[in-house]
Amino acid sequence: MMKPIPYGRQHIDQKDIDAVTQTLTADFLTQGPKVKEFETKFADYVGAKYAVAVSNATAGLHIAVLALDLKEGERVITTPITFAASANCVRYAQGEVWFADIDKNTYVLSVESVRELIESKPKGFFKGIIPVDFAGLPVNLEEFRKLADEHDLWIVEDACHAPGGYFTDGKGVIQKCGNGNFAEISVFSFHPVKHIACGEGGMLTTNSEELYNKLTLLRTHGITKENMSKNDGGWFYEMQQLGFNYRLTDFQSALGITQLAKNDQGLERRNQIANRYKEAFKDLIAYQSLPKGSFNAHHLFVIEVENRKRLYDFLRENKIFAQIHYIPIHTLPYYKKIGYFEADLSASEKYYSRCISLPMYPSLTDQEQEFVIEKVVSFIRD
Ligand SMILES: *Cc1c(COP(=O)(O)O)cnc(C)c1O
Repeated sequence: MMKPIPYGRQHIDQKDIDAVTQTLTADFLTQGPKVKEFETKFADYVGAKYAVAVSNATAGLHIAVLALDLKEGERVITTPITFAASANCVRYAQGEVWFADIDKNTYVLSVESVRELIESKPKGFFKGIIPVDFAGLPVNLEEFRKLADEHDLWIVEDACHAPGGYFTDGKGVIQKCGNGNFAEISVFSFHPVKHIACGEGGMLTTNSEELYNKLTLLRTHGITKENMSKNDGGWFYEMQQLGFNYRLTDFQSALGITQLAKNDQGLERRNQIANRYKEAFKDLIAYQSLPKGSFNAHHLFVIEVENRKRLYDFLRENKIFAQIHYIPIHTLPYYKKIGYFEADLSASEKYYSRCISLPMYPSLTDQEQEFVIEKVVSFIRD
């Protein structure tokens, strides 16, 4: 009997456990040296100038749009095929969420669909774009940057699925997710189903010193000891604006550091697994396509099938817990009432009717994967 196979799973080893227990008996449980160390290592890893650790990616998205000065009634475009948090951050700032469609082959936000939506409105109508590196496939941010510059928009890259992913730009240069060359701010998640598990946690990266300063202030109540208007003594600080407590702890950061050190190894294994799926499904089942020069970090492996619900139930009967990513956000009751979906979203809706995410995580064994493949293929052939 095979044990249950989830669609994703964290990978914790003795090094992780040792790092956390050492931090638990050190001087700082939070606001200590591990946070800074994690930020520096993460910034280095993605090739960005600055990184800001936060309590989770949702909090990170919230202060990202605030640092970019999003205000009530201002409009932002995102994809319907993502986790709700990608859109919710706009609502936290009382902004409007507008949806554009996905590309039917890569499943990421289509730059053509976004362009069409922007050009159907007067200049200045939109403020920003939140593209998502869906399933681990990096969006081509060079194309989005060009469009954003033409229309004076900011970009927040939701890179929660893609630490270590990259695309190749028009000059043949590799551009890693979150490197700050095209997006103002990128956001990563350390929820256990993502690549780097901290329990809860997130990271923001940017190349702008100004945004970095805003983000660190917003993360800690808006309180600072720097650039103060006066100074009454060593204890003195100023609260310069309304911020939040969105900090990551030291023991979570310690875990993040050891997890990050293994990320490349995990990505290699994820891509081995993806290649094995592709080999088995070739000419039989559609899966997310990979643009030339791109490296998919493979948070997920998504296939498209006709009888999706039947396959989902059939796999469950065999203790394979495949998942659906995602129910299009514009069809969720909250957004159905208040979202804006003038754009043609038919590719997103068609995708949703067919998509299913198969098990994908570094510790998935070859034997388990063969079992999954056998079940999926036998279902399709039936
Ligand atoms: C997981 C996820 C988030 C939210 O991350 P948390 O750390 O759980 O807040 C946001 N966007 C996407 C695309 C995600 O997958």
